[in-house]
Amino acid sequence: MMDLHCHVDLYPDYNRILEDIKSTGFYVLSVTTVPSAFEGTCNLTRNIKHCRTALGLHPQLAHQRINELPLFDKLIPETRYIGEIGLDGSRGYKDHFNDQLFVFNHILKKCESYGNKILTIHSLNAVDEVLNCLGTHPKAGTAILHWFLATKKQVEKAIELGCYFSIGPAMLSSNRAKKVISWLPKNRVLLETDGPFAKLEGNIVYPSNVISVLTYLSDIWNIPYDEVRSVMKLNLVKLLK
Ligand code: MN
Repeated sequence: MMDLHCHVDLYPDYNRILEDIKSTGFYVLSVTTVPSAFEGTCNLTRNIKHCRTALGLHPQLAHQRINELPLFDKLIPETRYIGEIGLDGSRGYKDHFNDQLFVFNHILKKCESYGNKILTIHSLNAVDEVLNCLGTHPKAGTAILHWFLATKKQVEKAIELGCYFSIGPAMLSSNRAKKVISWLPKNRVLLETDGPFAKLEGNIVYPSNVISVLTYLSDIWNIPYDEVRSVMKLNLVKLLK
């Protein structure tokens, strides 16, 4: 299985997260929030074969770390994976929306000169704006909308744009998120945790916890658990091709 959005470097207990990744054998995308964290985060999982590190600049930090964009540009040839990036229109971050747009558009434009990047994208309270930016950079790569909360119309637009959707165990405790999950086509669904930010009944989520999503999907799609596993594997293979 997989966890395509995991903040490995931000877990309070490195031994436990690294042990979880090793023992599950899951494909894990270790995302970062600032370019200056990229190399240290790569080193954390350097000896784990099925783990990749993404280069990111989180929208909630864009205004504070816009000066790290040159470092982002310098590091971008080192990885195929980009994230966490995106936009956040929530209170407290909306004030810095221009900086966020500058950073996000800059990164998408950079990605266009590669053509094969895989991007994990934050779109909290900024779905239309994120979809607009993706629409104006159609060659930026394959976008995975993480923890996507949107209307049915927005989901349809994202599907048209070729986006994937990564869903995690913590989403299953929200009716709004479950509604969104019900609109997703099987061939665009991937798995994530967003640990250690995401929690289940107060406990930090680990990659091994994505299994609960498979059970949930088996139920709502009305197909056997093993078939859900096959669909997920196939989606991951297609994504990484
Ligand atoms: Mn995240």
